[in-house]
Amino acid sequence: MTKELEPGSRILIAEDDLVSRRMLQVFLAKWGYEVVVARDGREALQTLEAEGAPSLAILDWMMPGLEGPEVCQRVRHHPGRRYTYILLLTARTQKGDLLRGLESGADDYLTKPFDAQELRARLLVGRRILELQESLITVREELLFQATHDGLTGIANRAVALEAIARERALQARKGGTFGVVLLDLDHFKNINDSYGHLCGDAVLKEAARRIAGCVRPYDTVGRYGGEEFLVVVPFADGAGTLAMAERIRHTIGSEPFQSDAGPIRVTISCGVATSEKALDQNALLHLADVALYRAKERGRNRCEAAISTDEPSPAPPVDSSLKPVSQ
Ligand code: GH3
Ligand code: MG
Ligand code: MG
Ligand code: MG
Repeated sequence: MTKELEPGSRILIAEDDLVSRRMLQVFLAKWGYEVVVARDGREALQTLEAEGAPSLAILDWMMPGLEGPEVCQRVRHHPGRRYTYILLLTARTQKGDLLRGLESGADDYLTKPFDAQELRARLLVGRRILELQESLITVREELLFQATHDGLTGIANRAVALEAIARERALQARKGGTFGVVLLDLDHFKNINDSYGHLCGDAVLKEAARRIAGCVRPYDTVGRYGGEEFLVVVPFADGAGTLAMAERIRHTIGSEPFQSDAGPIRVTISCGVATSEKALDQNALLHLADVALYRAKERGRNRCEAAISTDEPSPAPPVDSSLKPVSQ
């Protein structure tokens, strides 16, 4: 089933009685609904659980197989799904029954024989609730996106990139293997802002993010680490693999000038690469990548440097000339 155009424009009628079903079908079609029919409770449940199910449903209470309230209960069992507004149709008038119907998860009820105009009005209320629900979902999704993405470039924000490291560390602790991180920084980016203006600088950052994201695999994470720095988390990668990925990104950024209103701009990046080979914690790993990045800058920029393993002997400390050997 395709997605309905607007919430509540498609409606399910579940009714075992042929005459009532036809009558409902005629009314609803006349009122502009796209109607889907089910002849018993099981068919109704199947329809409501299927992909692209109608979000509005009229369920007869008494049906062979599953009764209306049971269908409601089962539909409500999937809280993550899109909401279905359910109206129960019942010949019963006893208050206890109605309570049971609503407790099963129905939103409203109508007793048979029903008045057509009343049904029409009740369905309008249902549609309004579905529209409200839809706009709440949209707002929630927008808020979630804003909380997890960088406003300028649209890629993951720093928190999400750091979470990716935490996730990979947890996976490594359970299953072994290694992952890599690439810390990359645009070279002399301040010059771009100074020469072409801040807006042009923003456009360069956006394009850089786009190019970096285009170099990685679907399960890698690219985040904006801060200002003109990006962090790439590379699962299932060793040192050589991560360095190769960094080189690929460096090439993608540096090989083609960035087009801007002020004409083509050459952009290069420097990368520091580190891998989790010794189950380093997040800060230690980032520190190693940062040191490697600093070395790439020092050695002339537009290059990638791998972190030096902590097992290797650290360079000898500089000799302090003020210390004189103790004379014998
Ligand atoms: P280096 O090669 O040593 O990294 O030099 P750099 O000029 O890239 O580094 P520096 O830290 O001196 O300058 C970074 C600049 O990035 C300064 C800051 O104004 C700019 N910047 C940070 N965030 C943004 C942003 O969102 N938009 C723009 N246009 N500029 C930004
Ligand atoms: Mg019936
Ligand atoms: Mg920087
Ligand atoms: Mg920079």
